[in-house]
Amino acid sequence: MARYSGSVCRLCRRENQKLFLKGDRCTTDKCAVERRAYPPGQHGQGRIKFSEYGLQLREKQKIKRIYGMLEKQFRNLFEKADSMKGITGSNLLSMLERRMDNVVFRAGFANSRAEARHLVRHGHFAVNSRKVNIPSYMVAKGDVVEVREKSKNLAKIAGALEAVKRREIPQWIELDPAAQKARVRDLPTRDDITAPMEERLVVELYSK
Ligand code: SF4
Repeated sequence: MARYSGSVCRLCRRENQKLFLKGDRCTTDKCAVERRAYPPGQHGQGRIKFSEYGLQLREKQKIKRIYGMLEKQFRNLFEKADSMKGITGSNLLSMLERRMDNVVFRAGFANSRAEARHLVRHGHFAVNSRKVNIPSYMVAKGDVVEVREKSKNLAKIAGALEAVKRREIPQWIELDPAAQKARVRDLPTRDDITAPMEERLVVELYSK
């Protein structure tokens, strides 16, 4: 599958805010946004005034990048959200949160979504005792996501779980760090997503 292989810090600088794509490094003074708080490129330090379309595009790019998705996948998810009952933007964010890679990150088994995606692809997790190695797999209410027996001693996961003490686990996930297990208490709602996102702009962009 195609994936972005460039510098992820560049993506944060493009959006002019921290997207927390690199785990622990993002909270240190090595963060590129802290060091160079202007967009990359020759005109990065000039004044940038966005049109309405520009604002919508930037917001879509930002959300897409936070969840590490490519345009086609993201658009498909939007179409699905749009065909569901309820508010399209909230449906979209809820589905993004329910992705397996996001759940693994949110539960604290990985330091970033990129790391979570890597761990999922390598078959280190199971859902309801069945191996799941598809990062886009959507968890459902009541699902139990756990580290597979053979991966219980993996240093990367243990390190992330150690760091989880400094992170907030969302209410909709119930983590049992000793058992390396997390239960999806409830489906995430818009209120569970605290990162600044204006999904309305994405809906406007794709509805043109
Ligand atoms: Fe973004 Fe993290 Fe890089 Fe900072 S360190 S620019 S938050 S990915």
